[in-house]
Formats: sequence, structure tokens, C-alpha cells
Amino acid sequence: MTFEDLGLEPSTLKAVAASGYTEPTPIQAKAIPIALMGRDVMGIAQTGTGKTASFTLPMIDILSSGRSKARMPRALILCPTRELAAQAADNFTNYSKYSGLSMALIIGGTSFTDQEKALDKTCDVLIATPGRLIDLFERGKILLNDVKYFVIDEADRMLDMGFIPDVERIAKLVPQLRQTLFFSATMDKQIRRLSEAFLMNPKEVAVDAPATTATTITQALIKTTESDKRDALRKLIKTENIDNGFVFCNRKKDVDILYKSLTKHGFKAVALHGDMAQSKRMEMLAAFKTGNAGLLVCSDVAARGLDVSAVPFVVNFDVPNNAEDYVHRIGRTGRAGMQGKAFTLTVPADSKMLAAIEKLIGGPIPPLGSTPPSSKTVETEQSVEEKTSEAKSASDEASAPIGKPENLEAPTPPSEKKTKKATEPSAGKETSKPSPKEERPKRKRRDRGRHDPDVGVMDHGEDVLAFGAHTPSFLKVEPYVAEPADPPTGEATNA
Ligand code: AMP
Repeated sequence: MTFEDLGLEPSTLKAVAASGYTEPTPIQAKAIPIALMGRDVMGIAQTGTGKTASFTLPMIDILSSGRSKARMPRALILCPTRELAAQAADNFTNYSKYSGLSMALIIGGTSFTDQEKALDKTCDVLIATPGRLIDLFERGKILLNDVKYFVIDEADRMLDMGFIPDVERIAKLVPQLRQTLFFSATMDKQIRRLSEAFLMNPKEVAVDAPATTATTITQALIKTTESDKRDALRKLIKTENIDNGFVFCNRKKDVDILYKSLTKHGFKAVALHGDMAQSKRMEMLAAFKTGNAGLLVCSDVAARGLDVSAVPFVVNFDVPNNAEDYVHRIGRTGRAGMQGKAFTLTVPADSKMLAAIEKLIGGPIPPLGSTPPSSKTVETEQSVEEKTSEAKSASDEASAPIGKPENLEAPTPPSEKKTKKATEPSAGKETSKPSPKEERPKRKRRDRGRHDPDVGVMDHGEDVLAFGAHTPSFLKVEPYVAEPADPPTGEATNA
């Protein structure tokens, strides 16, 4: 099948060709013709399947006949995180370059003034995270009653992150007579019920996750202690030549500390977490994507859904607090049939969480350098999903919450509005003078000014609890065995 077969306009086909795509991905082949017919779509597809183009390309064709007014977009794409929204905006910019449509990106963490200016101009498409969109709506900066094409992307993550009340509110602000496309990586009863509230007689399209069978991730466990952890990581990076990959921490403050420590020790690294200014996050991400930064030290939420492919390594600096997050983290490597290696540092206090993870993945994570067992387990999507609920309850027991989840875009129930507003810069002021609250982030007493020889004075943010994600459809439990030529990693292993 070719893109021409899907019935897209010549200008859109030209942009697709300029993007270097030769044939549609399965979700594009299934969803685009239905969307072009004007029908609602219920799409079950993960990031990496090309789903963004599957709702963006027909949208461009549909909008090409007609004009928008200032502050009255004709299409709205809702994404759960700023990064996903920014990625969708990049996609739109590429695909719409010959169609002359305009777009505004409305996300938290960036200037209200710039976004309001963008809305003042004609804006055909609005790509937004729910919290900021509602803020701007409440300020009277935007009208949604001309929206005819409404996309809810990554609905399962919206649910995970507590955004559904916001999405429901937004759905009431857009006209009832509209076309809605609802995408989710998973489809359980809750998501199906939700979709029914938003969609009208939808056509359901589903695709497998990318690289369902060809993925190979080898895993290894490195036992260490809390005080030796950073040292163990440095040794691991050197002995295993970890030059490009994700390094996951459970808490935002640890992302900062580890990033400072790694750079101080001469490693190429960038950091990404939800408390960083949006411009900084974009800068870090761009450096990582272009290969200018070897390691991306990050928290779960910041990394989720990022369109970063072909990463050979994942390191869990912390054992995640949620067993599903382990599967999600290691699924960042070994994509598209490539070999990937996933290392996990563990301290004695992790034992319960580790047990929950091993229950979920159906076997122990072998220690670094151990001999592979003769029988290897290959998990299918079905079997991993079945185990997810069991292991989730095990992990819930094992992990008491340590803080609020790291919502990149906080939902806005009325009770939380005040807090949110206080932390977000107000219109016109954000570039000049930060609020006193921003200048002096709240610290826990015990953290204040503590000096760490590795990183200097530590500036701790709030604790964060990693939380549930969809389960990627692939997982191969296979121990990692060091190359014969490699030196032993005894110091890092501390087994
Ligand atoms: P998505 O699932 O929308 O995040 O897309 C994942 C990646 O696939 C993005 O980098 C897209 O640019 C790329 N992509 C989307 N459609 C195609 C296609 N038909 N052929 C090749 N790459 C594509």
C-alpha cells in the first residue's frame, strides 16, 4: 500500500514524501481512510507506530477547505505531556508545510504571553496539554466552539496522570457535532468506557506494538549499597561502554544530583524531569536526540512517550516503585529488532520491589556476568498484560507512596487550582521577574544546603513517585553476559 492509495491530497502527499516516508505504517493504513470519511476513530496503538501522522494527515486535508478565525481553532489535539505535545507540533509542522495551515502549541512551563500572541493570530490547529488549555480558556483567551476535529492522544496516560476530568471538561467545551479520534496504547474496560463517552459510532483500529517479536533486551542486575551506588554506576558505564542510553531515577531530585555527579566525573550527560523549565527540557532533549549527549538521566514520566529510537542501553539507577515501570523503562531499548541491554542497580531495601518486578516479568533478573539459563522466557503481550495486574498489586503493597506523582501537566480540579496557579508564571510576567516562590523552591529541612562532594551543594526538589504505565508488548528475559574480552565488573557488582 502507498500513501496515494489512502486518498490524501497532493499537497499532503508531497509533505509526506519530503518527510522520507515511503509507505504508510499499519495504523496509518487503517486509520487515515476512516478519518478522511469523517468518521470517529478509536485507535489502539503505541508511540512509535506512526500514530501521530495517522490523525494529523487526514486532519490537514479536512481543514484545507475552510478558514479559521483568531482564537477559534478548528482542530484540537490533546496530549498528556508537554513533550508529546511538542512532538505532535513538530509532526504537524512537517506534514502541513504545503497546506498553509497555522498551529499554536499550548503547553505548561512556557510563557503565557507568547501563547496568547499565537492565539491572537489565526490558528487552525491547537495542540495542547489539558491544564494549560483550561487555564487559557478560563482567562478568556480561547474559544473552542469552532472545533470540528478533536483528537485525544494517549488516553491511557491521561488516565494514569489524572487528566480525565480535564479532558471531560474540554470535551464539553467543543461542539457535540464534531469528529473525534481517540488513541490509546491499551484497551481495558475503563478506557473503553471512556471512549464511549467521547466517541460517536467509532470505527476501531488496532495495531501491534512495534517490534513485537524481534526485540531482544538482555537484562542484568548489579547489587550495590546506597552509599556505593554512584560509584557502581560509573564503573558500570565504563566497563560496559555505556555511551548512549537512558539512566532512570525514581525521584526528580535524584535526577539532578546524578546528572551533576556524572558531568562532574566527565561523562557526557543531560537531564530531563518535570520540574525543569520547558526551554531547558527541550534543549536537553534536542542534545540527546542529536547524539550530542551520551546519557539521558531522567524520571519515568519525563521519558515516557519520547520519540527517541535506537537507544542501546537503559540503566535503572533506582529500582522503579512500580513493576510496570520496569517493563516500560527497559522497553526503551531493543527496539525494532535491535539488541538492547538493560542494567538495574539494586540495594537491599529494593527487595520487595524487585520481587514484584520479577513476578511480572516471569523470572529473576540475572546478576551481571552470570551464565544464561538453558531455557529463556519470551513473554507475549497477552502474558505480560495478564501478569501486570497481579504484580501491580504486589508492587502497590511493596511501595508506600513517597510523594506526589510527577505530573508534567497537573490536572486542575478546583481544589488544586490555587497551587497550580501559584507555580505557573502569570501572563506577561514570566520572562521578567519570577515569583518569590519560583526563586526559592521549597526544600525539605534535612536537604537544605547539604553538601555532596560529588555534586556540590544539593538542591532538592520534591520527591516523586513513579507510577503506572501501559505494558509494552514485548519483553524477552535473557541474562546479560559480559563480552569475554571485558574486564570483570566485580567492584560494581558487589554481589
Ligand atoms: P509516532 O508513533 O507518531 O510517535 O511516530 C514514530 C516515528 O515514526 C516518528 O519519528 C515519525 O516521524 C515516524 N514515522 C511516522 N510515519 C512513518 C512512515 N510512514 N514511515 C516512516 N516513518 C514514519
